[in-house]
Amino acid sequence: MNSANLINLAYIAAAILFILGLKMLGRQATARKGNALSAVGMLLAIVVTLLDHHVVSYTWIVAGLIAGTAIGVVCARAVKMTSMPEMVALLNGFGGLASLLVGWAEYGKIRAYGWDAYLAEFSGNPVFTGLVIFLTILIGGITFTGSVYAFAKLAGLVSGKPVRWAGQHTMNIAMLMVMAAAGVLFALTGSPQLALVAFTAFLVLSLILGWTFVMPIGGGDMPVVISLLNSLSGLAAAAAGFVIANNVLIVAGCLVGTSGVILTLIMCKAMNRTLVNVLFSGFGADAGGGSTEGAFQGELKPISPEDTFAVLEAARQVVFIPGYGMAVSQAQHVVRELAELLEQNGAEVRFAIHPVAGRMPGHMNVLLAEASVPYEQLVEMDSINPLMPQMDVAVVIGANDVVNPAAASDKSSPIYGMPIIKAHEARTCICLKRGKGTGFSGLENQLFLMPNTRMLYGDAKGTLQGVVAEFKALAAS
Ligand code: NAP
Repeated sequence: MNSANLINLAYIAAAILFILGLKMLGRQATARKGNALSAVGMLLAIVVTLLDHHVVSYTWIVAGLIAGTAIGVVCARAVKMTSMPEMVALLNGFGGLASLLVGWAEYGKIRAYGWDAYLAEFSGNPVFTGLVIFLTILIGGITFTGSVYAFAKLAGLVSGKPVRWAGQHTMNIAMLMVMAAAGVLFALTGSPQLALVAFTAFLVLSLILGWTFVMPIGGGDMPVVISLLNSLSGLAAAAAGFVIANNVLIVAGCLVGTSGVILTLIMCKAMNRTLVNVLFSGFGADAGGGSTEGAFQGELKPISPEDTFAVLEAARQVVFIPGYGMAVSQAQHVVRELAELLEQNGAEVRFAIHPVAGRMPGHMNVLLAEASVPYEQLVEMDSINPLMPQMDVAVVIGANDVVNPAAASDKSSPIYGMPIIKAHEARTCICLKRGKGTGFSGLENQLFLMPNTRMLYGDAKGTLQGVVAEFKALAAS
């Protein structure tokens, strides 16, 4: 068997490991193993690629490997869980840039050799090669600047609000059409001068379009956009795989592309929005920093940690509903501690997980897993809702939109139709938040004013520590 066949066999093995790993990532119990399996697949793909006889010099590869590893280790340790979405945005951006550079380098080779010599040396079809170079630059460029802008929005370097102006979408569509025309010209023209003009046009426009595409999207919708950009970075990599005829890059790129699309659609569905609505509606542009006072009838009824302890001490069925505020206050460890104390006190404890609680898919699952909350206690929204009327206490930890009853009952609400966890159906609902801040949707929440709701004000970690202290004092007495 020649070395090309051996390399392709190893690539097939790597692709199988990627697919098995992805499948295992779908369940919490197997996720760690799935991650390790995919990593082994990636290692195999890298080692085999480095053995390829096309590698001319290892100097730059080793330098890149050392620099990349160092930056990766520092980021993995330093980046906070709440900053993960912007970290992912940056990584997507670099993925897009890498693909763009592959396409650019290949075009550089064509210019250096001349088409005829290039085709004689590397074989292939000039129209196909031209088109995949175009696609690599187009998708890679949009992904790069779009992701950098998304990162800047999430990191607070620019305003997180949608930036909109009249004719914005028409302008974006016009740019896309000019790029498509330039791409066709690039692939079909025999003239090196025209090809250079077309290449320059779609390179520059793709970088501009990435920026202007993300501009009208609101801060709260950024996780969906990041998931979409992640998908695009995969497609850019697949296109780059066609450019350099590398099978494993094509397979891995397609896997990232398709899983990114699936994730994007799952997020849209859980928010009861269409992708078109997320991308083009400018959701959040007009939302003010509303409070829970004014629009709804009722009164906010504060409760102290001591009284919260008294309510919980008597409860037999308790459900915790975590949201973005739990991530902000990093309250997951003290929540686990409280859950254990409640179980020792004879209560049955569950954690209700909403698919878009927090700011990224699986956000709550990751935090609770980090705090060693047993998987069995995590209950999906659809499974917990029928049980809600049997719950003595629902403890809402920094969640807001995902427990807003208006989503189920108020047809005029912008989030009407979004599935929620029905915290309001529990006998008593205790909501932990710092003040009257709204969630990402900027909407008021009637839950906080309902007769069976009590507000435990303060940073969630601090107030929960107060409740835990009461339980410990009881045990010690
Ligand atoms: P949320 O609606 O954003 O509300 C978070 C609440 O946490 C706020 O009302 C805030 O009130 C409170 N809070 C903040 N810091 C706190 C702290 N240190 N201690 C206690 N409370 C604190 O959160 P959510 O209910 O999890 O909803 C998530 C939202 O993000 C949904 O609207 C969803 O559609 C959207 N989204 C999610 C994803 C995803 O993938 N997960 C993607 C895109 C969009 P105070 O300021 O008063 O404390």
